[in-house]
Amino acid sequence: MTAPAAVTIPDPRRPLLGLSRQELAAEMAAFGAEPFRARQLWQWIYNRGATEFAAMTSLSKSFRERLAERYVVGRPGVARDLTSLDGTRKWLLRFPDAQEIETVHIPEEDRGTLCVSSQVGCTLTCKFCHTGTQRLVRNLEAGEIVGQVMVARDALNEWPATPDGNRQVTNVVMMGMGEPLYNFENVAKALKIVMDHEGLSISKRKITLSTSGVVPMIRRCGEELAVNLAISLHAVTDALRDVLVPLNKKYPIAELLDACRSYPSANNARRITFEYVMLKGVNDSPAEARELVRLIRGIPAKVNLIPFNPWPGAPYERSTEAAIEVFGDIVNAAGYASPVRTPRGQDIMAACGQLKSDSVKLRRSQMLQQAAATP
Ligand code: SAH
Ligand code: SF4
Repeated sequence: MTAPAAVTIPDPRRPLLGLSRQELAAEMAAFGAEPFRARQLWQWIYNRGATEFAAMTSLSKSFRERLAERYVVGRPGVARDLTSLDGTRKWLLRFPDAQEIETVHIPEEDRGTLCVSSQVGCTLTCKFCHTGTQRLVRNLEAGEIVGQVMVARDALNEWPATPDGNRQVTNVVMMGMGEPLYNFENVAKALKIVMDHEGLSISKRKITLSTSGVVPMIRRCGEELAVNLAISLHAVTDALRDVLVPLNKKYPIAELLDACRSYPSANNARRITFEYVMLKGVNDSPAEARELVRLIRGIPAKVNLIPFNPWPGAPYERSTEAAIEVFGDIVNAAGYASPVRTPRGQDIMAACGQLKSDSVKLRRSQMLQQAAATP
């Protein structure tokens, strides 16, 4: 008889990462643990960053052993870890189904921002975005989203997670791969975990969700999460936005701006960010800058100008510095802050719009093979 082919047997134990507080409490109740155990576990996982039950010394040894038989804490695997010359760091994370995503840490003088992905790839096909050339493979689960913050804190040695100014992960932006409002349930669950005061404790004021304009979900985002909102506007006419951000055909500029006007957490202290990628000769004229300020009048807003970041085969070029300056000055003179986003981590393809993983949908034949190999 020939020996069976080697197969990796998936870990049957359930990961706790990504369960809401209520779900963790229910899971522990069903497991027969006293109610306060769920809270202790929560603190070990999200405040202390424990990755093994054995390290959770306030729990009895026998309880820790029982937990380890049934559960794992859970972490995405780090497939690649790159650091840019400018200090930006990018992790390629791999999940048990072999799908991959990227997470980026951008250190600055007064803060550190973690750029988190919400999907493997993206169903949308914005013309200037590298991720948009990748077919959507799937939504990320809540544990895979919060797992990105955990991996960054592990790598940067940031446990326990006390909220003070000197940390390297002070801000979270949902600006990595994917459209977060097309995966709202999982994004919302993950961000509630990230905000929890007994855990990672990153305030909603330090979290920004960027959307290409999924109008029906914007209100829910404001009501349920009250995080800062960023809108990928990029054009001031529907004719051009239809081309750059094809979702505009479904939710045109006027509807998008109406949703911004009624965004529950927008006020002068917490303004909506309009992101505007600067594409040479496409959307960067002074007339377009004037039209932009006319469009957003009345919205507490700032405009973030993003010099286009190239990627292999991209159909656009970056605007000249002079064009970006003129554009920014017009917006600024109208009373809106118009910072230019410095491209970071370009040498490791970590800048805005450059993220992409090689994940592709498994062919049906491969899936059948895998299913047959699973006991
Ligand atoms: N899907 C969401 C969030 C991810 S993209 C969204 O579209 O808003 C984060 C920001 O980078 C968006 O404003 C996006 O339009 C911008 N972006 C995409 N490709 C880019 C590129 N090549 N150069 C500069 N910015 C880009
Ligand atoms: Fe998707 Fe955002 Fe890229 Fe558009 S810009 S393809 S919505 S990730």
